[in-house]
Amino acid sequence: MMFIDTHCHLDGEEFKIDRDAVIQRAREAGCQAIFLPAIDVASCHTVLDTCHQYPGYCYPMLGLHPEEVRDDWRDQLTAIKDILSTSSDVIAIGEVGLDYYWSREFQEEQLLAFEEQVRWAIELQLPLMIHCRKAQNEMVNLLKRYANDLPGGVFHCFTGNAQEASQLLQFDRFMLGIGGALTFKKSHLPEDLPAAVPLNRIVFETDAPYMAPVPLRGQRNESAFIKHIITRLAEAYGVSEQEICRQANENVKKVFGIQI
Ligand SMILES: [Zn+2]
Repeated sequence: MMFIDTHCHLDGEEFKIDRDAVIQRAREAGCQAIFLPAIDVASCHTVLDTCHQYPGYCYPMLGLHPEEVRDDWRDQLTAIKDILSTSSDVIAIGEVGLDYYWSREFQEEQLLAFEEQVRWAIELQLPLMIHCRKAQNEMVNLLKRYANDLPGGVFHCFTGNAQEASQLLQFDRFMLGIGGALTFKKSHLPEDLPAAVPLNRIVFETDAPYMAPVPLRGQRNESAFIKHIITRLAEAYGVSEQEICRQANENVKKVFGIQI
């Protein structure tokens, strides 16, 4: 099987000592490319550095993560926009969005920072890698105002129900990012996804080092583990693993417009 990991924090400390081996295992498992999201200014640099070490395999996405939005968010955005303007190989704006799960302290700032980065995506014609937790209505309302101009993107780490999926799929050119949560014992995704999400709207992701799939839950996640997600998803949709991969790869190309 051939697949793409559309969301992997491979630049992180967790991979410092064995990044080469992690990439080797990914290649052997059939992973054709890995997309790396930034979360703040510092990680924009580590993401770019890591991608430059693996050209044609690792691809950078730059943005300010909602959980990193604090009082200095305007300065962070200015710095990230500068980096964007001098980096020609960036494939998406991300990860960006809203997260009201842990704290609503900066919810207004999160909205402003997200909106600014949505405008960047439109201006630069780059897709969005969106993180959203406990804020779907707020996110949808914001995106609706830009719906006609949005270049597309991924709603990463989708764990919602069928109705929430349908609400997100109203945005053309957007995919749902499916990862380890699908394999968790109590997950309703194996029922809800086939009911509400056509296969031409799904991409794979790890969100590594987090969210390792069953039977590796609790371990450090890595791109090679996506095979467990593919197996579970093929079962849920009642199609072959090859067909799931073919469709997901096509979806990646549609959104990110890159030849892999
Ligand atoms: Zn992430």
